[in-house]
Amino acid sequence: MSEEPTIFEQIIAGDIPARIVYENDTVAAFLDANPLAPGHTLVVPKEPYERLDDLPEGLAADLWAAVQELTPRIESAVDADASNVGVNNGSAAGQEVPHVHVHIVPRFEGDGGKP
Ligand code: 5GP
Repeated sequence: MSEEPTIFEQIIAGDIPARIVYENDTVAAFLDANPLAPGHTLVVPKEPYERLDDLPEGLAADLWAAVQELTPRIESAVDADASNVGVNNGSAAGQEVPHVHVHIVPRFEGDGGKP
């Protein structure tokens, strides 16, 4: 875990504004500030583990359960046909925020290629 609070910890604490769409004891989800599509959502563990393999087993399960629950709800909310669900795991893979986050990016028939 990093020592400075991550942007996502600050969002969870309410110190940075964000549109929170889901929260339970261990996981939160909010709209991405630079959405690739309407409804682009980030699902994060509340504790700031940096990479997927840092997550304790129970927290990984909580995170995935939230992703599974939220994906169809988000698709329905924006009338999407499908979604890309993914993690940039490490800076060489494009991870900019060192706090695990799962992107849910709604997709629409005919909207083009993969993100
Ligand atoms: P990464 O590239 O690390 O996988 O994705 C980080 C994501 O966090 C990006 O899609 C970026 O738009 C989003 N993001 C960065 N800063 C903020 C912020 O302050 N608020 C919100 N809601 N999203 C952010």
